[in-house]
Amino acid sequence: MPQSLAPPPATVGSRRIVAPSVERVQASLRFDVQAREASGEATVDFTGGSVDGFPALDLRQEVEWVRLDGQDLKPDDFGRTDLGGGVGASVRVIDVKIESGSRHRLEIGYGVDTPDAEGAQPLGWIDGGLRFDFWMSDLQPGRYLEMWAPSPLIHDRFALNLEVELLNTDRVHTLIANTAGIDSGPQGGRWSLCYPAHFTALSPMLVLAPADLIELRRSSLSLPGRERSLGLVCARHTDTDTDLAACEADIKAWLTYMAARYEPWVHGDTFSAVVWAAGRGMEYDGATTGSVGSLEHEVFHSWFGRGIKPARAGDGWIDEAWTTWSTSSRRGELPRFESRELGLDEPPVELYPAHPWARFTPVEAYNEGARLFAGLSALFGGPDRMRTAMADWYRANAGGFVTSDGLAAHLKAWSGIDIGPIWARYVHGRG
Ligand SMILES: [Zn+2]
Repeated sequence: MPQSLAPPPATVGSRRIVAPSVERVQASLRFDVQAREASGEATVDFTGGSVDGFPALDLRQEVEWVRLDGQDLKPDDFGRTDLGGGVGASVRVIDVKIESGSRHRLEIGYGVDTPDAEGAQPLGWIDGGLRFDFWMSDLQPGRYLEMWAPSPLIHDRFALNLEVELLNTDRVHTLIANTAGIDSGPQGGRWSLCYPAHFTALSPMLVLAPADLIELRRSSLSLPGRERSLGLVCARHTDTDTDLAACEADIKAWLTYMAARYEPWVHGDTFSAVVWAAGRGMEYDGATTGSVGSLEHEVFHSWFGRGIKPARAGDGWIDEAWTTWSTSSRRGELPRFESRELGLDEPPVELYPAHPWARFTPVEAYNEGARLFAGLSALFGGPDRMRTAMADWYRANAGGFVTSDGLAAHLKAWSGIDIGPIWARYVHGRG
């Protein structure tokens, strides 16, 4: 919602494209298990951007019909437009000029299939059932909620109401999501979810699978600094060969450590983790889906990455760099908590994609980003001081958005050291 964090208007031909401010997305996804077909319908309530212009949203499915304020538009009137944000970063623009601050309602009907985005997965139809996962990623554009429902970019907070319906199957399914607001229908096969209004497009987690293919454990733990206990849902796809009780014990230890070291837990009353066979993981607000080897990294992200969120995609490098430096991760080339002097003689690295409509985290964020923190750690007097600097920054921003400029300013003020030349070379790639 905060328009100050929205990317600035972009001019394409004679049109000025603006980021609107989305209040609510109501979407329903229907999966016909017998026909192996799925469809979606959505309503988006939004207000115009900071100036008059053509509003940009995204949806990585095929639009079948679209209405604005009750008037039919053609699907092409909600077509893709390249704003210069790089490969795959185009958005959908409503081809109607909207006054700044005016309120509108967009309604869309669409088919649901493999999202049109690099790395997206097909729907997991299986005999009499469905394995479905939002399967989000920071690494490619268009890999957040826009894969499944119309969404704004990640600077924008909005309420998400989601209906999920399975048709033509008697098989019992389990749905796991990072919201307390889940109602299931009396017959099964239908869920109504209400995600918190402070979520952004990278926040919601959803996993759906036949109940007989999921092992699920519920427990709770007491977190330092929190009065009520925190619920813990740990689940595993049964084709993932791991000891779920051992995963649960590890997750409890990491959650407890994080709350003690970095302090406030800013999510709801439950942490949810779903362990899968794929060799990757993804963080959500107070939740993760991931491989066993990625779990520590993903739990850490409930503080850095989703407890404080990147204001724009360009700021996404921070949490990958800091998480890689801080955790024992297979992605990390350096040992955790490394301190190593960083001069101005190593190759420049661009961790922050400069274009305001860019929509990905560079893969260099993991190792080159961790190298940057190893250098800062050496500069600040060791890993304890490095972590204290980041804990202060976390506490000052907990539950909010963070930017690369904001982190640079904090680290400079905290240490009294001019990190400007290092930042220019190893964040912005200026040689
Ligand atoms: Zn990560």
